[in-house]
Amino acid sequence: RLNGTKQFISNGGTAKLYVVYTRTDKTQGGLKGMTPFLVPADTPGFTVSRIHDKMGRRLLSNATLVFEDAEVPAANRLGEEGGAEALRNSRIARGRGGYGATVLGVSRAAFEEAVRYSRERVQGGKPIGQHQAVAQMIGDMYTRLEMARSVLWRTSWAVDHADDYDPRMSWLTKVVCSEAAYEICRLALEVHGGMGYMRECPVEKYLRDVISFLHGAGNNHIFRIKISSRITGLPLE
Ligand SMILES: Cc1cc2nc3c(=O)[nH]c(=O)nc-3n(C[C@H](O)[C@H](O)[C@H](O)COP(=O)(O)OP(=O)(O)OC[C@H]3O[C@@H](n4cnc5c(N)ncnc54)[C@H](O)[C@@H]3O)c2cc1C
Repeated sequence: RLNGTKQFISNGGTAKLYVVYTRTDKTQGGLKGMTPFLVPADTPGFTVSRIHDKMGRRLLSNATLVFEDAEVPAANRLGEEGGAEALRNSRIARGRGGYGATVLGVSRAAFEEAVRYSRERVQGGKPIGQHQAVAQMIGDMYTRLEMARSVLWRTSWAVDHADDYDPRMSWLTKVVCSEAAYEICRLALEVHGGMGYMRECPVEKYLRDVISFLHGAGNNHIFRIKISSRITGLPLE
């Protein structure tokens, strides 16, 4: 029987089947002592209490899930009891770097929009792209975009080919791509001047959308701490 709540869950209220990580051994912390289960949406005792109102990614429903003695058969367990860590480290879980691809697409759209505007908008008798302050922003955006793309490609290659996959690759890819996306969208807004702040300009939406990736899909602070722990060999408290 599952008991507890989890907030902000993507596709909550829309999905018909949920993967729920549960604590089955209270003597252990973190992923240790946790077991993943498949939970159908119509399981008695499982409800969606709230759909959150977000600043961005507004097409995606994010919900609070509530479990009150929700009975889930052992057959719905994913892997062994206490097997959350094994599942996280398995081939299936290599995809976390894929979030990098999601934000890279938004970054590219913001970049292309900024380039277009810098050619078309004329101020001081010439396209704003000929003013050095704007040219520097375009160059900076491209540099960040290519840096993020390179990391994503390298990690994608490792996901397909490495037998002994290093999860740091997924974590750092998500960190690099989400932070690049945030800065690229912010700069795209700057290139547009006041127009960037207007709803008629697509860039304000891109910025609102990518901000969520700084903490959603795994928090960047925590990823950095996990990477550090792997490097130093010092366990996380
Ligand atoms: C759009 C969106 C979609 C999401 N989708 C899902 C989903 O599908 N499934 C899911 O399970 N979750 C989902 N989440 C939840 C997301 O994973 C969490 O919001 C995120 O992990 C941060 O947890 P929190 O919100 O409780 O922040 P908190 O844990 O309260 O963190 C607040 C601040 O404290 C810092 N902090 C917290 N603990 C530590 C620590 N130990 N060391 C250092 N710093 C710390 C954090 O970095 C942050 O700056 C989603 C969130 C968003 C915004």
